[in-house]
Amino acid sequence: MSSLATDYLLIGAGAMGLAFADTLLTELRDATITIVDRHGKPGGHWNDAYPFVALHQPSAFYGVASLPLGAGHIDTHGINAGFHELASGPEVSGYFDTVMRRQLLPTGRVRYFPMSDYRGEGRIVSLISGQETHVSITRKTIDSTYLATSVPSTHTRKFSVSDAVRIMPPNALPNLWQSPDEMPRHFTVLGAGKTAMDTLIWLLGAGATPDMISWVAPRASWYFNRRAVQPGPEFFEASIGGQLGMMQALASASDARDLFLRLEACGFMLRIDPDVMPTMFHYAIASEPEIAILQRVADVIRMGRVLALESDRMVLEQGERATAPGTLFIDCTASAVERRPPVPVFQPGLIVPQMVRVPQPAFSAAMIAWVEANIEGEAAQNALTMAVPLPDGIEDYPRASLVNLFNQGLWSQNRALSKWIHDCRLDGFAKTISAVRPEETDRIAMLQQFRPTAMAAMANLQKLIG
Ligand SMILES: Cc1cc2nc3c(=O)[nH]c(=O)nc-3n(C[C@H](O)[C@H](O)[C@H](O)COP(=O)(O)OP(=O)(O)OC[C@H]3O[C@@H](n4cnc5c(N)ncnc54)[C@H](O)[C@@H]3O)c2cc1C
Repeated sequence: MSSLATDYLLIGAGAMGLAFADTLLTELRDATITIVDRHGKPGGHWNDAYPFVALHQPSAFYGVASLPLGAGHIDTHGINAGFHELASGPEVSGYFDTVMRRQLLPTGRVRYFPMSDYRGEGRIVSLISGQETHVSITRKTIDSTYLATSVPSTHTRKFSVSDAVRIMPPNALPNLWQSPDEMPRHFTVLGAGKTAMDTLIWLLGAGATPDMISWVAPRASWYFNRRAVQPGPEFFEASIGGQLGMMQALASASDARDLFLRLEACGFMLRIDPDVMPTMFHYAIASEPEIAILQRVADVIRMGRVLALESDRMVLEQGERATAPGTLFIDCTASAVERRPPVPVFQPGLIVPQMVRVPQPAFSAAMIAWVEANIEGEAAQNALTMAVPLPDGIEDYPRASLVNLFNQGLWSQNRALSKWIHDCRLDGFAKTISAVRPEETDRIAMLQQFRPTAMAAMANLQKLIG
């Protein structure tokens, strides 16, 4: 067994772990970090993603603070036309590889153990050789695995599948061309989240007609309108106006249902079927053209979750449905980010990065690293980094919004932190706001409404939660 000493031991080289490491190394010029990850490459779950995955938020504010992702393009065609580019899955994986090779390792303060399992008590075990390395940790362990991301290619299904059923994760879909004689006659997409959305759009784009598709979506979902999450002065009215509209809805809604209807009315939220009131919200982002494509799928099955796939039928929580001949099931039921109860981010000898601003995992991890480097004492550190409970149903959204607003309010009172946020590329909007010129009186008037509306929103949200 070999041994080494390190200031910080970081478990997980995914987006959160790398965003944390990058900012910590910038802020603490003498700190050393040892990074351990089971994957063979940096980037976490992006290494397992389906080939047609892309970010659903602009690349402009995803990744690590020290290295831009993408070239800052505005897309000119397709479902994201007119908006900031969205990195594809391979681009995200390549980016995190570059982060490791060009940003982190060259500092000379990082050791990276890929294909290695962290077994606790300072034990790193190589998954290939079984060789064990013991690490003495002089400062803290960072457990960046708390979100427990789960994707279709690696998750364990929660329903049974008979041998006669043909099922695959979305990862395998683009390979169907290799067996033209076995081309499915019908596609049934299982799952209501972002992966299912991407899969439906891919199928329709690849030539499937809507009548060849069924969609098992136990719950309908709300989506953030991508128009409202665009950084930069040219998007000020859509983004900052959208944020203000959101704040006004938070300030005046009478319950969660009313809140989402208000958010829809101001263009901040989208849904696929105007006749179905969605009950789920996972912060997925969609554009209006994406929604229009999804509206072409008519056979949406809302009979609860799948319990079993038998040779000729699906058994669902609320009934059964015959399976069309030649059906291929596509498993999009992985949970993506697990909704675990928040825990304190700073604990004795341990940091557990979680989202302190939703939905921004990368920003959150970088911000937590800034706090570790610049704020003394666990209590003060935790005061600035209250973890936001991730919503599942719409009734969870008021609480998440309240913690978001509460954190934002505290951060704005810390001058050094505010400056860091303003300068950080992972923050979406601070630079858009500070770029407003004195002669832009309409924009200034809009900004002046934020503070009183945020106060009213916080008061109303407490009522809604109570
Ligand atoms: C399809 C998809 C699209 C998404 N798009 C966006 C987006 O556009 N914007 C956004 O902000 N978020 C998005 N997300 C959310 C996404 O989960 C985060 O952006 C981020 O990638 C999560 O990173 P992570 O570091 O928390 O987790 P992971 O990527 O899962 O990284 C955790 C790492 O820890 C390692 N690990 C776990 N346990 C151990 C152990 N004991 N020993 C060693 N290693 C261990 C794992 O191997 C893994 O590499 C998306 C998620 C999915 C699934």
